[in-house]
Amino acid sequence: MARLLELAGQPRFKVRAYDRAAQALERLSSDLGRLVAEERLTELHGIGPRLAAVISELYRTGSSQGLEKLRQQYPSGAADLSRIPELGLGRIKALSGAGVTTIAQLKEAAEKGRLRALKGIGEGTERRILERIRRLEAPPRLLLPAADDAAEELLAYLREAPGTVAAEVAGGARRRTETVDDLVFVLASTKPAEALDHVRSASFLSTGGRDGHIVRGSFPGSLPVEVRVVAPRRYPTELLFATGAPAHTEQLQHVARQRRLKLETSGLSSVGRAGSVAVGSEADVYGALGLPPIPPELREGEGEIEAALDGTLPEDLVSSNDVQGMVHCHTMYSDGRHTVEQMARAAEGLGMKYLTITDHSPAASYAGGLSIDRLEAQWEEIARVQQSVTVKLLRGSEVDILADGALDYPDRILEQLDIVIASVHQRFRLDAAQMTRRLTRAMAHPCFKIWGHALGRLVLSRPPIECRVEEVLDVIAASRAAVEINGDPRRLDLAPRWIRAARERGIRFVISTDAHAVADYRNLQLGVDMARRGWVRRGEVLNALGAHAFARAVSPAGRSA
Ligand SMILES: [Zn+2]
Ligand SMILES: [Zn+2]
Repeated sequence: MARLLELAGQPRFKVRAYDRAAQALERLSSDLGRLVAEERLTELHGIGPRLAAVISELYRTGSSQGLEKLRQQYPSGAADLSRIPELGLGRIKALSGAGVTTIAQLKEAAEKGRLRALKGIGEGTERRILERIRRLEAPPRLLLPAADDAAEELLAYLREAPGTVAAEVAGGARRRTETVDDLVFVLASTKPAEALDHVRSASFLSTGGRDGHIVRGSFPGSLPVEVRVVAPRRYPTELLFATGAPAHTEQLQHVARQRRLKLETSGLSSVGRAGSVAVGSEADVYGALGLPPIPPELREGEGEIEAALDGTLPEDLVSSNDVQGMVHCHTMYSDGRHTVEQMARAAEGLGMKYLTITDHSPAASYAGGLSIDRLEAQWEEIARVQQSVTVKLLRGSEVDILADGALDYPDRILEQLDIVIASVHQRFRLDAAQMTRRLTRAMAHPCFKIWGHALGRLVLSRPPIECRVEEVLDVIAASRAAVEINGDPRRLDLAPRWIRAARERGIRFVISTDAHAVADYRNLQLGVDMARRGWVRRGEVLNALGAHAFARAVSPAGRSA
């Protein structure tokens, strides 16, 4: 109905009301029939009396007068086809006249080049339509914060299951991978059969069927969901297998065999003498295999088990408690939403000892980059705010690395700053040789101290820039500059594999939020997650230092030792 109302040119708020109601129903964790019977639909968020009446009618009769009336106004398939933004009413009518009323038929027609025969559809539009269809068909992936929100919502429901002693999200969400393409949960209950019934009674979990103790379904956005319901004794191994990448758990099984043990989702047992080995936690499982506990973020099968076996797995991985300063923060001077004072007070409220104000430089004109005059005005404001806050304010800039590798303020300005983060914001499409030259030239500048969102990727939408990363890292290591681990969920840059390459060269890191509003301070945890995935130890993170040591380490005025 939302799609048809949109096509009918109804006001946006009305369309959105239907969209929201549909989402509320998709997420429903109780029985819809009962809500209808007891007339309690309006208790759901976003569903008022009118929508409740429509939903009841749909539930009871399979249709609604409103829906039928809308359908009569449009060619059949209009609601489905309108999911493609290129298709307005005119094109949908033309398609319908040509017998195309479903996305599948549309795809076939586009692939055979038959759409361009229709009036008003050219070859370019045909290609774009095909691209849209492919995107609709691609399996959905969520950015980490969206996955966290969905997981939290589901966990709240799962924990209400009878006899629950533990429930956790596993899979990529627990390993903190940049995107998540399914949500896997493990639930331990002393009454597994009843717990299973509770899990299956959620509408979104009844769609994918059941397979022994595993219930499958999908969450709004059609993200696949899987819940494994087990007795408590089986929880540690089930969680272990549901969390680790296959390479990790396969290697663990190999280690187990060498110790004459058998490791399975159902538990740990000894080979010769029949009988299971009791394990109360994942740490117990690792312990039985002669390994220290391996944190979820490291369970990728990328050398962590070898490192654990030979005692070189870092035990002091950085955690969010170690971070003492908020790095890389924007204000209203450029494209941020809050003032210097608001950013300062919020950082202070989070217990931070320092905060770096790093707005954009002039070349980033689209982001309100600061002229020298504006930058100097900001210095005065920072000095004024500093008098009323205890968090130490560092004046800095996120300076553009220009196309030729120059930095976007004159040296006399850069030298007066407390911190300089240098980033690429434009001209992403140089070839690898040109980009490498650009970056290494920038790094030769004595004020270059931190490489901001290094490879410029946007998760799910923009690939990293092309450059010879290892060569660039060699130059950074030689110049003793640091690399940023950017916690913006769309960036999460540098990526973990390159973080590890940087670590091997002894390069230090800052974990930053790239905050454009106080709410973005939450990005800190995501930055920490990526750092841990890159095996970064506490001592390798500059903003785990106190204010004085940090300021000395990043000062553009001279290369510190
Ligand atoms: Zn930036
Ligand atoms: Zn920024």
